[in-house]
Amino acid sequence: MAPVIYPTTNLAATEQLVLDHGKGIYVYDADGNEYIEGLASLWCTSLGYDNAEVIGAITDQLNKLPFSHTFGGKTHEPIMKLAEKLKDMVPVEDAYFFFGNSGSDANDTHYKMLRYYFNAIGKPEKRKIITRERGYHGVTVAAGSLTSLPANLAHFDAPVEALHILRSDAPHYYTGRQGNETEAQFVDRIIDNLEQQILAEGADTIAAMIVEPITGASGVIVPPEGYYEKLQALLRKHDILVWADEVICGFGRTGADFGCTTMGIKPDLMTFAKQLSSAYFPISASVIPGWMYEKMIAPSAAVGVFGHGYTYSGHPVACAAALKTLEIYERDKTFEHAAEVGAYMQEQLRAIFTDHPLVGEVRGKGLIAALELVSNKTTGATIEKGAGGATVQRLAQENGLLIRAVAGNSAALCPPLIITKEEVDEMLRRLKKAVDGAY
Ligand code: PLP
Repeated sequence: MAPVIYPTTNLAATEQLVLDHGKGIYVYDADGNEYIEGLASLWCTSLGYDNAEVIGAITDQLNKLPFSHTFGGKTHEPIMKLAEKLKDMVPVEDAYFFFGNSGSDANDTHYKMLRYYFNAIGKPEKRKIITRERGYHGVTVAAGSLTSLPANLAHFDAPVEALHILRSDAPHYYTGRQGNETEAQFVDRIIDNLEQQILAEGADTIAAMIVEPITGASGVIVPPEGYYEKLQALLRKHDILVWADEVICGFGRTGADFGCTTMGIKPDLMTFAKQLSSAYFPISASVIPGWMYEKMIAPSAAVGVFGHGYTYSGHPVACAAALKTLEIYERDKTFEHAAEVGAYMQEQLRAIFTDHPLVGEVRGKGLIAALELVSNKTTGATIEKGAGGATVQRLAQENGLLIRAVAGNSAALCPPLIITKEEVDEMLRRLKKAVDGAY
């Protein structure tokens, strides 16, 4: 075994699968076995595995200017063009962009950005951040503390309290409902819980609430109708900013440009990564509105710098990869394609799995979905912890499909956005064999 500490891996386990190359939505292992990449690797390879144009943009940029930092305003064309392009796309007022390398660092940046802003406007006490149970926001110190998945917190002594992080209910009706509660009653209850929490903490101590419009790693939770409307009304009432973590949802995944569009969220702040460059080169962005940027100018001038930045912030090759990816999305109407094929995938998933004895809930929107695996459909009792998802993931792989077991009992699907309806049919045939095999 190579001396690698693999990320998010049971360190007692050995290497599982050695991948060698990819084409379209397929990847191939070292023995030549073919797999459909049913999770777009880690929710990110939107354009599949052999996009010659993105590869060309990367190699052109490597030949021209392979690297240059962007500290102190030393800049280059790809970063400026990318920011201008994104400004026209995002639903944030007069947006400014800080570029990083991963979803985690984008969220850490925003954690710090919020502190910087509230210090700048003389409200240093407005520093708490609300996150949700089952939220996933990455693994760096602040992002990892905003994450609520047990495995990401266990043994790391995450400084949750020191960072003033508050947790609120996960908006998952299927696993969170009480008794005969309707969806509307469930929403009212969790919104009311949140309001009580805000009142108890003091709204003037809370800066923002971070939400994934549709969650990914916690099992693709699509909140019920009306949830975001009520949530936003509550947060606005208490002057708490809405921070959308679009690291998975951004750029077509939910069948629209952003998850915020699909779910009716008007964000103040956004973070995204992954599909920004179809994952061909690491890049992330932390987005703030112009009115926030304006207030950060004076303190930065007083110190001499806005003292936050990574060596690779705005890496020219990453920016070139992202620019080309965005150009392709626009030219090929990739988001419209994702909406159409996504609607088909959702319909087929429900047709095939709703009555399956092992499936308690089929959920998702656009090209992201999950099956909740249960041992008792009526009560929703889950299979022994972790068993359902892990078994289906293993059987899927044996049947030529890579998916991910998330949150123990969910099997998640998130194929490249370029997938066709015929390929969806083939993917679901392979998934059905895996779920049947687990029964
Ligand atoms: N936020 C969300 C919603 C994510 O799904 C992820 C990763 O899957 C992250 C943040 C962290 O991104 P990264 O793994 O690039 O650090």
